[in-house]
Amino acid sequence: MIVFDLSCDSGHRFEGWFSSSEDYSRQLAEGLLCCPTCGSGAVDKAPMAPSVGKKGNQQTAAKPAAQTPEHGQGEGARPVSNAPMSPEVKQALEKLADAQKKALKDSKWVGKSFAEESRAMHYGERDHQAIHGEASPEEAKELIDEGVPVAPLPFPVAPPEDLN
Ligand SMILES: [Zn+2]
Repeated sequence: MIVFDLSCDSGHRFEGWFSSSEDYSRQLAEGLLCCPTCGSGAVDKAPMAPSVGKKGNQQTAAKPAAQTPEHGQGEGARPVSNAPMSPEVKQALEKLADAQKKALKDSKWVGKSFAEESRAMHYGERDHQAIHGEASPEEAKELIDEGVPVAPLPFPVAPPEDLN
């Protein structure tokens, strides 16, 4: 198959597909060619079309940038990976977990009343002591806004009531 750029006497351009140049000549001679726009039979090979704009429907339109979600951390989002952890990372994490355990040795688990307890200590309503527990992101933010010293623990802590 060959493709010819054709145009009619009104200047409409269109493509014609032919099995050969002879086929084109035959169809033209038999009056089988006509303009798809105006139906004119006065069709001839178009002068070489400027490459710009030609076959506009075939150009690979630049896709709009995919709407990838922001890489920012959403509420409560945590960085995760399914990459296998190297032994070094595992060891380091175990050390860190151990360190956290030691740091919390003299700390009292207060569970969900952490915000309340730490606030009471901060305002001098009760003696200061080391506590740890659970706080929602909102609670933690409120505490920080109030100047109550809180820090997230790198590892989850098993509440004592869950331990046998
Ligand atoms: Zn035409």
